[in-house]
Order: sequence, then C-alpha cells, then structure tokens
Amino acid sequence: MEFQSFLIKYSEIGIKGKNRYVFEDKLVSQIARKLKTVEGQFSVSKVSGRIYVQAEAPYDYDETIDALQHVFGIAGICPQVQLPDEGFEELKRQVVAYMDEMYPDKNITFKVIARRANKHYPIDSNEINARLGEAILDAFPEIRVDVHHPDVYLYVEVREMINIYSQIIPGPGGMPVGTGGRAMLLLSGGIDSPVAGWMVSKRGVAIDAVYFHAPPYTSERAKQKVVDLARLVSKYSGQIQLHVVNFTEIQLYIYETCPHEELTIIMRRYMMRIAEKLAEKNGCQALITGESIGQVASQTLQSLAATNEVCTLPVFRPVIAFDKQEIVDIALKINTYETSIQPYEDCCTIFVAKHPVTKPNRKIIRKSETKLTKIDEMVETAMKTVETIVID
Ligand code: ATP
Ligand code: MG
Repeated sequence: MEFQSFLIKYSEIGIKGKNRYVFEDKLVSQIARKLKTVEGQFSVSKVSGRIYVQAEAPYDYDETIDALQHVFGIAGICPQVQLPDEGFEELKRQVVAYMDEMYPDKNITFKVIARRANKHYPIDSNEINARLGEAILDAFPEIRVDVHHPDVYLYVEVREMINIYSQIIPGPGGMPVGTGGRAMLLLSGGIDSPVAGWMVSKRGVAIDAVYFHAPPYTSERAKQKVVDLARLVSKYSGQIQLHVVNFTEIQLYIYETCPHEELTIIMRRYMMRIAEKLAEKNGCQALITGESIGQVASQTLQSLAATNEVCTLPVFRPVIAFDKQEIVDIALKINTYETSIQPYEDCCTIFVAKHPVTKPNRKIIRKSETKLTKIDEMVETAMKTVETIVID
C-alpha cells in the first residue's frame, strides 16, 4: 500500500502545559530537518495539536520510516490514508478496500475506533464504529470483531479530511533535541560513552563531545573510531561538535610525577577538569560520562567520588546502574556496538598501572597533584590546541 501521509504520535510533550507549543514546534522542525536527508519532498505541519508528515513527491518508504525513527520526541509513526469527505457510502467502500489491501489474511479480529473531530460531520463516532464494522464484516466472512483484544485497531479520524490508519510504528520516544539544553559528552572509543550520550540526548539535550587523544600512544585510527561513533550518535542527536584534546603531554607528566597506582584517577580528574572548561566555553550545562559502578577500578564509588570532586557542573552518568549486557543491548539497538568493539587502543589502556587503587583516598590524591607544578600551563596549552570537528 502506498501512503502519502503520516500521523506522528508523541507522548510526553503533551503534559507540558503552557509550554506545549515550544515542544511541538521543536519536534516539527526536527522532523523537517531529518527528512531533508531523505530523497523526496515532504511537508511537516501541526494541525490542532497533531503533527502530520505529507509526502509531496515520490519517496522511499523504508528510508523515510528509518529517518523518523531517529527523531527523539516521536512515540509512534502512523502511515495513513487521507480521503476527502465524499459521503458515507464512499467512506465505507474505501475502508473495506483499505482492510483488504492491508490484511490479505482475513483470519483476524478487529475493532473500529472512530473519532469525529469535525463536529459538522452528520454521523457520530459510535455510529461510524458500528456502520464501518458492519461493512467490513459483510465484505469478509472470516474476519471477526473483538472489542477487547483485537489484532487490528482501525482508526478513522474525521477531520477536514478523513484519516484512516491501523499501524503504529514505534519511534525512539524521548523529547525533541534542543528542548533540554546542551551537555558535554566525554566520548571514548568504548561501548559505554556513546550509549550514555544517546540516553541523555533522548531527553531533548543537544550534545557536544570531547575526546582525549594521546598521539602517538593512541593512533589516528583510534581517533577515527571516535569520529565514527560521534557520527552514529549524531543520527539521533543532530549536529555534534567533537573537541579533540591532545592529552599526551599531560598524561606523560602525570606518569613521570605521580605514583603509578594513582595514575588513572589523576588522569581522569584532569579529563573532567578540561571537559568542564570546554563545557563552559561551549555553553554546556552538564557533563556526561559512560561510567558504571564497579566496572573497572576507576569506577568504584570512592573513585567516582574522587573524579567527581574536581567539577562543579552536574555530571550525568546514565548507565551508572546498568549491567554491561544492558549497555550492550542499547549499543546494538542504536548501531554503535560494531564500531565500539573495533580493537583500537584508547589512551587509558596504555598508561594503566598493574594495581590501580580501587579506594583512592582523596586527601592523598590531592597531595600527589600538588607535585604537578607545571600542569596548569599544560592544561592551558591543551585548551588552546583543541581541534574541533563538526559532525552532522
Ligand atoms: P567506555 O566504554 O565509554 O570507553 P569504559 O568502560 O572503557 O567506558 P573508562 O575507560 O574508565 O570506562 O572511562 C570511563 C568514562 O570516561 C568513559 O565512559 C568516557 O565517558 C570517559 N573517557 C574515558 N576515556 C576517554 C577518552 N580518551 N576521551 C574522552 N572520554 C573518555
Ligand atoms: Mg574506555
């Protein structure tokens, strides 16, 4: 069946009271933006609290659905048939034809759910339900009505036009990006951080990203992998500015100056400090990491407290209580997993101590850091030499 029109369902925006239109307008503009990447021509409109996508030219159905499934804020996509009001007999005929084409196997149960938004329409919704149901039963002997648990809900919405749909294709949910501020994602080449960024973006938050690169200890290929991951996340989040920080000098200096078992913690504290500076410079209101309790030595509660104390911005760790498999499941769903498992070293794996502290004492860590007399200058240089890659 060829559809020229889609009803877009959204869920949570509906509860935003007076700000509702801000969310709806953002969703409309995000959908329009996304559909620019699809061949064809579409118009997106908001009519009495409903959002519609209209195909204005031939288009690829699968590509269009895929694009819409990457727009946060969409709960469901309903391909619909739109008819002008040409009398009830004609509507009956069209509804029967719709059921025939959509459900070749008629061994199904159904229920009609009519909605009469146009109160000038001469037949009320109960009667539309009854009369269309009857027409369908008359046309197909095997089909049955089930008002409690039907296989098919057939929606008939009488508005300026009459809209018929029975399929609700799930969208990604969440809130339209841009309604929830902006945050800085610490993006490594691993499995966890792209998932963390996706999760926060799903709540309507626009994303910037920072990657700490340590050439020649980390290769160009490792950096490319992070660029690839940012691109995959940006399919949902929209444009990402990826800030690549050259971390080599800082890392070597910490390595030479501090006890090796404290290396990871101190290094991570400097990552957070630099990420926070970049966040403030780029208008971000929070940081995001892919940390998860107990996954590695630097993610015990004591270690998390030690890395947390160096920043004042809130740090979001959306996968903090997830098991690895739960994170992997999301990575598979959002298509970052295959890229994340490519075997390129990240900078933390090169400078790891044999026995890192798992319960760092913050007083001791602070004391070790006082030995880093040249580090502020190095941080300043790192800030000045950031390479920013715009990913769209
Ligand atoms: P991931 O799978 O996200 O790499 P991980 O389990 O390997 O996480 P760590 O290497 O300890 O964990 O890193 C914890 C978090 O710190 C990461 O999720 C990420 O947010 C951030 N991070 C680690 N290394 C880097 C890096 N080189 N650049 C930017 N952020 C980093
Ligand atoms: Mg990692």
